[in-house]
Amino acid sequence: MSGTEHDCKLISINDLRPIDWFTGKRLPLTEDEAPECDRCGRKHAIVWTVQTPRGIVTVGSSCGPRLLNGWNPEKFELKKARAAMRERAETEKTAKLDSIAQPFASVVSALEMPQPRIAEEQNFPELVEEWQIGDARCSVLLNMKPERPDLDPHESKRMRIEWIRHTISKLVYESNPRVDDEDFSSPRNREIEMRNARIINRAVAIALQD
Ligand SMILES: [Zn+2]
Repeated sequence: MSGTEHDCKLISINDLRPIDWFTGKRLPLTEDEAPECDRCGRKHAIVWTVQTPRGIVTVGSSCGPRLLNGWNPEKFELKKARAAMRERAETEKTAKLDSIAQPFASVVSALEMPQPRIAEEQNFPELVEEWQIGDARCSVLLNMKPERPDLDPHESKRMRIEWIRHTISKLVYESNPRVDDEDFSSPRNREIEMRNARIINRAVAIALQD
């Protein structure tokens, strides 16, 4: 194959390693996901797709210049391709979070919300009236309390959101429990907490769209 720096064009750079939706870090490449390099036949993690006079080639970033007679992409081409790669990584992270959150939202959307009722135990009776929706709780400020909070559009919407959030939280924590339930401060548990919080927020948002 022949090529000079004038007749090749960098189309894209792809990092083929799967992305961690939370940290944005790349995970190890699994062999069957990567295409074989057009120069060396190996499976590279970072791959250039290059338009050459003889067609499109897919090569590892280090193999590109060697395959294409020393060709290297222009600085602006590299910059553009790297920016596009970062943008795709963001899209990939969002899509992954959505695919994790969606099943939780679907479960709660299929449930019927229990009828809200005034909680038997009131923790701060001088300040708020606490309502119970299944085992979720929602406080209504006494100085702004409508006659029937359960029928008031604003309060009943808040109750619905509390119930959705509570139900989803339970489901998320069932599937991603803390490593050691007692130790809230370990770095591993903190990460689980933060991951769970992001999943819960996203699942609540999806459930509220339904
Ligand atoms: Zn190669």
